[in-house]
Amino acid sequence: MVTSAQCLKKYGAPELEANMILWDVPTEIETGVIPNKLYCNKDMVAPLTAAFTNLITRKLVDELKTFDGCFNIRKKRGLTSMSLHSWGIAVDINAFENGLGQTPKLSGGFVKCFTDAGFDWGGLWKRLDGMHFQLKTI
Ligand SMILES: [Zn+2]
Repeated sequence: MVTSAQCLKKYGAPELEANMILWDVPTEIETGVIPNKLYCNKDMVAPLTAAFTNLITRKLVDELKTFDGCFNIRKKRGLTSMSLHSWGIAVDINAFENGLGQTPKLSGGFVKCFTDAGFDWGGLWKRLDGMHFQLKTI
């Protein structure tokens, strides 16, 4: 799993916002609540393109009800290490029903759209974080 130490080494301090871009999401993958523009790490463009394309081709877009953010400089909730959101390499989805410590509601098919595209899913962690997808490697 990618660590905050690896991010610090590759991207520098989160406040530098190195590698961050305002990604103009291609029209063909803007559907449902998929954002038109997304402030994220450059390294997210290819994996998110793949994940959103998977949602569309597998007809699972309707399951994406809320897109709850990407870049946010903060510590992991309740912990001291920095969240990977601090470097814009994680996204939260359907937060209202996939809260920290709650049994995730996302379907296996939906999750697979992201894991097939190069993301780790927080719903498999000991500390359940079902809304959270982050890059598997950087
Ligand atoms: Zn998250």
